[in-house]
Amino acid sequence: MENPETLGIEVVCPEGGLAAPCCPHGPTLLFEKGRGGRRFYACSACRDRKDCSFFQWEDEKVSEARLRAREEVNRLKQQEYRNRFEELASVLRHEKKFCDDCQMLLLPAEHGAHSAHRTTAVTAAQLRRPSLLLRPLDNKKSNAQYLFTDRSANFLLDSLASLGYTKVLCVGTPRLQELIKLQKSGSMKSLLLDIDLRYAQFYSQNEFCHYNMFNHHFFGGEASSAVLKSFLKEVGEEKVVMVADPPFGGLVKPLANSFSLISQTWKDQQDSEDGPTEMPIIWIFPYFFEPRILECLPSLSMLDYQVDYDNHPLYKHGKTGRRQSPVRLFTNISSRCIILPQEEGYRFCAACQRYVSSLNKHCSECNRCPSKNGCEWKHCSSCEKCVKSSWKHCGSCGRCALPDHPCGRGQNQQGRFSCGGLDHKRKFCPVKDAHKNKPKGQTVDKRFSRHCLKLKAKNKSGAARQQKKMAAQPL
Ligand code: SAH
Ligand code: ZN
Ligand code: ZN
Ligand code: ZN
Ligand code: ZN
Repeated sequence: MENPETLGIEVVCPEGGLAAPCCPHGPTLLFEKGRGGRRFYACSACRDRKDCSFFQWEDEKVSEARLRAREEVNRLKQQEYRNRFEELASVLRHEKKFCDDCQMLLLPAEHGAHSAHRTTAVTAAQLRRPSLLLRPLDNKKSNAQYLFTDRSANFLLDSLASLGYTKVLCVGTPRLQELIKLQKSGSMKSLLLDIDLRYAQFYSQNEFCHYNMFNHHFFGGEASSAVLKSFLKEVGEEKVVMVADPPFGGLVKPLANSFSLISQTWKDQQDSEDGPTEMPIIWIFPYFFEPRILECLPSLSMLDYQVDYDNHPLYKHGKTGRRQSPVRLFTNISSRCIILPQEEGYRFCAACQRYVSSLNKHCSECNRCPSKNGCEWKHCSSCEKCVKSSWKHCGSCGRCALPDHPCGRGQNQQGRFSCGGLDHKRKFCPVKDAHKNKPKGQTVDKRFSRHCLKLKAKNKSGAARQQKKMAAQPL
């Protein structure tokens, strides 16, 4: 199975319902191929069948024997994970060597077995920066890892500290957790929820939970979800915030569902009625998912801050890189409270009561700072809204479009585009309307890779091949 969204496949029910069968990665999700198409269960974590081959039609009759065999496979996998976890935890108490080939810390007794591998002794300082020691996962479809630059990670940390948060739930943000733990003051606590089990080598069970954010599944079972519960309880002056940076190839609906469940768990832990009624969250995702995210979690709003990554050639800090990052923060924390740094080109808009990119000029007609991509936009009086400044109003299409758009076909195409834009082919429409028929091939991945390729054309430096390869992957 390809990425479900690639095939116009939609998640029907994020929770999978009570009846959802389990694969080794927890309860599966129910998918639907095309509107009204046949439904099936598939793995929530792995978009690639090579990584998890589980497949079952919704109405399929599964024999007792097959059910038992399946349960056995799942049980063995879970056991394997648990044994591994315990083994790894004990490694920490001994002399430390790291095997780069196996991506694991070694017990003294294990050194021999890895003698032909690339191993290095690790210092205490290195143990505190696992994200520098571990090779970022580059699995194309399920969980490629893109690590924050120090600039972005420090921005997040400083913002959270100045807002008075004392406990940070790091969902898929290992580098943020690392930075928090490196703070000398020790005034901030953190808990990492991530599917990358390698992190279990570096953190205790109270600092790391092996977790699948697509189906809110704790691999460590009850004990593990209890760790989350106790972390979410605010005692005295404690204030909890969640920061999530999911893989961008991921489906929005199941993610939103998991985050709502975490928020609900948070609510259940608090004794007092005063204070915020919703758990403060920051969800890091590309700006072109804004409509989809707001549809799922209406209390969030998007900030102009551009998040960049160390190991992504396009979004690196630099001349061409940083300004082009499409990755933003979606948060229910009041926008005016999150101060975006002036020295990085942000300013405060008094009318909007939020910090915006300096090129994002306030429009008195629209009464907002309209730009999504950080570049300048301009108001079109015929369209009665702001558009990218590279667009021109087209008389025959009756709307704004790129100067070289396929002209004249505008009128009859109207309404077929969710975004109302004419600058792109329909299959690349950046706004996915879940309720309309979706053409085949209109995908998260394609939209994203198109965006990257566009950037690539602008970005003259760097190894073009590598960039193309990266661009073809979901972040
Ligand atoms: N920018 C972040 C890393 C983001 S990469 C940082 O610097 O800390 C996405 C992260 O989500 C990775 O750590 C990856 O292991 C994790 N991840 C991917 N799929 C996941 C899933 N299904 N459930 C939980 N975590 C997942
Ligand atoms: Zn090895
Ligand atoms: Zn404004
Ligand atoms: Zn305007
Ligand atoms: Zn116009």
